[in-house]
Amino acid sequence: MSQIPTLPQTKAPYRFMEPLAAYTTFRIGGAAEVFFKPQDIKDLAYFWQNKPHDVDITILGEGSNVLVRDGGIKGVVVHIGRGCDKVEVDGTKIYAQAGASTGKVARMARNAGLSGVEFICGVPGSMGGALVMNAGCYGHELCDILEAVDVIDNTGEIITVDPKTLGFGYRKSNLPEGWLFVAAHLALKAGDKSQVRQAMREINQKRTSSQPLELPNAGSLFKNPEGQKAWQLIQESGCRGLRKGDAQVSEKHSNFFVNLGNATACDMENLAEEVREKVYQKTGTQLEWEVRLLGDR
Ligand SMILES: Cc1cc2nc3c(=O)[nH]c(=O)nc-3n(C[C@H](O)[C@H](O)[C@H](O)COP(=O)(O)OP(=O)(O)OC[C@H]3O[C@@H](n4cnc5c(N)ncnc54)[C@H](O)[C@@H]3O)c2cc1C
Repeated sequence: MSQIPTLPQTKAPYRFMEPLAAYTTFRIGGAAEVFFKPQDIKDLAYFWQNKPHDVDITILGEGSNVLVRDGGIKGVVVHIGRGCDKVEVDGTKIYAQAGASTGKVARMARNAGLSGVEFICGVPGSMGGALVMNAGCYGHELCDILEAVDVIDNTGEIITVDPKTLGFGYRKSNLPEGWLFVAAHLALKAGDKSQVRQAMREINQKRTSSQPLELPNAGSLFKNPEGQKAWQLIQESGCRGLRKGDAQVSEKHSNFFVNLGNATACDMENLAEEVREKVYQKTGTQLEWEVRLLGDR
């Protein structure tokens, strides 16, 4: 354990050496040295204003785009979830806090007869994670419907910023160092509730038929290179079904890597690197990780 300095007196308690596997969709990972799940956005802002400067801080949403290494994460892991998950509908606008699940936002939009955010029901995770990754699918991405974004800046102040200043691109955003996302303001269109419901149903059916949702995974492991599909390159390189320990390249979708039960982060990372190398040898394309690696080996 590293030297953890005195932590601010937050409303929510700190937990120590908290195993993180249960907080990730891979169901893999070591422990957080300190784990903090803020009670609400005020608690989060208070922590951010008063956190010690010499301790590493890692943010975790729903853990659907991360591989937490077996050695765990040093410093404080801030898990933004329930408590920081308010969603409010006002006319055609939605305010959604970072800890709200994308599913909750999509359902609330549907119930209010609003269209534009249906696609997000195909992307598991929190709104905070969706902002960081500029989550998207089937031709849509989150930045298309963002009117404004609330962040906590490096002084701990909550400010509203224009999304154009945040460098959203394919599976990326450019949040300044020391900032974090606290809420999204979405601009949607009045739609027909039953059409929105039908669109969401179709997205879910597409996902169930093409993705190995029955096994723990973190979605696409690699980004699609410009003009190419990562799953196709992986398949052409003979890697479909490739296995290391209990980590496997899915037979159903070659860019999904699955945990067959007891995979370690080391198995998963080594498998991914082997696939990257094979794809490079076969096609000359360097795949880039979409899943974020956190912590120590
Ligand atoms: C079955 C499956 C299907 C998927 N399909 C898609 C898809 O179609 N399209 C797509 O885009 N993605 C997809 N993904 C990946 C994943 O769902 C998205 O990247 C999602 O937006 C991540 O949200 P999260 O809350 O789980 O983020 P996490 O995995 O918890 O975190 C992701 C990154 O964001 C950082 N972070 C999280 N919250 C904040 C915050 N509030 N402020 C600052 N940093 C933060 C974390 O430190 C980490 O670096 C899929 C995943 C799964 C498991």
